[in-house]
Amino acid sequence: MVLYTPGKTSGYSDDTVNSGIRFHFLGGAGEVGNVGCVIEDNTGTRLLIDYGMAPTRPPKYPSECPPVSDAIITHSHIDHIGMAPWLVGAHGTKLHGTGLTAKVSEIMWRDTYKVSSIEGYPLTWDKRDLDLALESWVTHDINEWFEIGSWKCRFHPAGHMPGAIMIEIVTPSKTILWSGDIDTRNSPNVIGAKPVNCDILCLEGTYGGRQHPPRKEEEQRFVERVKEIVNRGGVALVPAFASGRGQDILRILHKEAPHLQVHFDGMGTRITKDWLKFPELIKEPNLLIKTWKWARRVYGKSDRKKALNANVIVTTSGMLDGGPALWYLNRLKWDKANAILLTGYQAEGSGGRQLLSEGKLPIYGKMTEIDLEINQFALSNHADHDSLSSFARGCNPEKIIIFHAPNDGAKLLKSELKKEFDIILPENNISFLL
Ligand SMILES: [Zn+2]
Repeated sequence: MVLYTPGKTSGYSDDTVNSGIRFHFLGGAGEVGNVGCVIEDNTGTRLLIDYGMAPTRPPKYPSECPPVSDAIITHSHIDHIGMAPWLVGAHGTKLHGTGLTAKVSEIMWRDTYKVSSIEGYPLTWDKRDLDLALESWVTHDINEWFEIGSWKCRFHPAGHMPGAIMIEIVTPSKTILWSGDIDTRNSPNVIGAKPVNCDILCLEGTYGGRQHPPRKEEEQRFVERVKEIVNRGGVALVPAFASGRGQDILRILHKEAPHLQVHFDGMGTRITKDWLKFPELIKEPNLLIKTWKWARRVYGKSDRKKALNANVIVTTSGMLDGGPALWYLNRLKWDKANAILLTGYQAEGSGGRQLLSEGKLPIYGKMTEIDLEINQFALSNHADHDSLSSFARGCNPEKIIIFHAPNDGAKLLKSELKKEFDIILPENNISFLL
């Protein structure tokens, strides 16, 4: 783990770039999350894209970033913004993002700070850095051109969640498209990402080598399962991420099963309020407003007790690592009519993964057996292998850099695309010129 001790300097090269564009991944190469990449060319323009952390236990950080005046933040998931307060505290960096990303960053950083204090993990930034970071946002609309040094940049929707963007960077020599986390399919809250012509495509590959079932069918399967559980007198506990998945689940249920009592708890309640301030970044925002009024939002202990008699509880954390989901599970576990509906991938080492493989998970420090039915649904907000490949072809680049991917996934994407494009699989902390 990098602790960024005073006096310790970044491993980034001091040499100036003579020609071409230099890429240097501080994190996020050959791994999912933990993203940070410095891009620099011979005009002296230097830009950082994302500075996250992987919320593992203990958290994993990218390498120390060299001084950089500007950073573009693709979206507010913690594996993309978690370390930005350090950046602002250490280098006075300006953070560029959408208004919604800037708004939600406060909730994400304060939560990260709280969790690190509770769990006793060292964090490389403090409350002062956090406050400075909140002051450092420069927000841009989708499609609005802005300048960073000698480069022109603009945001395109990434389809991953509201406010998430891809970045088009026009340098004097080449045009770069940085995908961020993307989904090319329409989902309940956002429209899918569309290809953008470029010379160099930096493509996330979370689902390289894997395919999703058709989204609509998977949503239908989820709704049918919820109805079965409710009809037998049970409560469906739906652990879901606070930013994206939770709101998707609410919209699916509001549309397909409006007669159900659906309670929404956790950090997602605050995040949704921020979403509602940016209707231009939401698909059919009026339907989100209707969904929001329909859902029963849980704000305190008495609401939480009421929710135990609901039909459905949608809450954080999505991988059963903490949050109200564990409070509910601890109480719902006694009635076998209840069931757990996982809404996506459960990472190695997460409570959800342990529950799937061993039928137990830690709740408040105590290993607890859970004898309830568990189902898993593929409601991811990332493009799958085929969608990533056709997106890449649509961008028509000369070169593709695959990042934010497990090693095997990156290799499978490479073998799919290598006949048509020059493919680069970067490594963290090793610069390369294109
Ligand atoms: Zn993300």
